[in-house]
Amino acid sequence: MAEHVVIIGSGPAGWSAAIYASRANLQPLLFEGTTKPEMIPLGQLAFTTEVENYAGFPAGNIRAFVESAVSKDRHWNLPPAPKGHEQDGQPHYAVQGVELMELMKQQALNFGTRVVGDDIVEVDFSGQPLRVKPANGDWVETHSVIIATGARANYLGLPSEEAYKNRGVSACAVCDGALPRFRNKPLMVVGGGDSAVEEATYLTKYAERVYMVLRRDQMRASKIMQDRATSNEKIQLVKNRVVEEVLGDDTQGVTSVRLKSTVDDATEELAVGGLFLAIGHTPNTDFLKGQLEMNDKGYIRWQQAFRTYTSVEGVFAAGDVADDYYRQAITSSGTGCMAALDAERYLAGKGL
Ligand SMILES: Cc1cc2nc3c(=O)[nH]c(=O)nc-3n(C[C@H](O)[C@H](O)[C@H](O)COP(=O)(O)OP(=O)(O)OC[C@H]3O[C@@H](n4cnc5c(N)ncnc54)[C@H](O)[C@@H]3O)c2cc1C
Repeated sequence: MAEHVVIIGSGPAGWSAAIYASRANLQPLLFEGTTKPEMIPLGQLAFTTEVENYAGFPAGNIRAFVESAVSKDRHWNLPPAPKGHEQDGQPHYAVQGVELMELMKQQALNFGTRVVGDDIVEVDFSGQPLRVKPANGDWVETHSVIIATGARANYLGLPSEEAYKNRGVSACAVCDGALPRFRNKPLMVVGGGDSAVEEATYLTKYAERVYMVLRRDQMRASKIMQDRATSNEKIQLVKNRVVEEVLGDDTQGVTSVRLKSTVDDATEELAVGGLFLAIGHTPNTDFLKGQLEMNDKGYIRWQQAFRTYTSVEGVFAAGDVADDYYRQAITSSGTGCMAALDAERYLAGKGL
């Protein structure tokens, strides 16, 4: 028998959709994905430490709450509570990415979501019922699908960059820029597009100054964004350079970055307390090619404002996979909720 709703993806969008769909008695089947570079069950937040901007989670004794809520058989997956964040002898910190995601997963499980630890590798949306193919299983038939597979940040691919992730290397200024480690320090943004200017401008609120490293002698950003960068006295353009190595130590994290010239053999080292990558994101939509409408960057195209409908009837999209603009956990949760409500109403309209 066909499923009511299959959810693909296990980030904030997937779990929020699952919570709403399971509370609506749709018994969702959620495929959470497997570990691959830049992808991981529980979504992108599983790559980060503290999440300070998810509403409802001020700093506090998060660990006690998480341990009371999350099933004991998954406590092994919880990272240690950060050291040095204590108040009255108790842990006192903002929720960590894995903790927040385990809480969302638990909430979905509590209402009856069924979870499969597999990737969907192929879909067939040519007719009803819709069909999805897990890597290690047979085709699954379903009346509706919610795609919540996210988008992964692009990195330079340097071993030193990998070594300093969460210790000064970030791909999200809005997420991390306000963290104490970056305050009042020189910071560096790599990239010359509109979003790089946005990231750099955001960072100037906290940073002593922001270097924008450009591969060429000009920016790719639109004229208005170029003007924004050049008129900000805290932003300094560093042209014709690429990052050669991220340097730092165990106590401070990132302390400087070595740059290489793109026009000659020169190298130089700039002292910075953080390196922010702004060289784009890649939506996880390869397995959907040819099955539904996407934009030129491969993001799923919503067909109507304030609705999560895709170009295929019964298929809905939520979170970063359909949003190359906001890319936040809370906006992903929001559209995950919307997709579940859209799916519920679609199924009700069909009498399913
Ligand atoms: C280092 C870092 C720090 C961040 N910090 C913050 C922060 O502090 N605050 C904030 O609001 N946002 C933050 N973000 C952004 C936030 O993580 C994302 O906006 C959010 O996770 C997007 O949620 P999502 O559910 O759309 O997708 P994702 O979280 O990307 O989850 C997608 C899921 O789908 C799975 N998947 C992919 N393809 C398949 C497939 N074919 N089959 C099955 N499963 C699949 C993946 O494994 C993954 O689990 C951060 C991002 C990063 C990388």
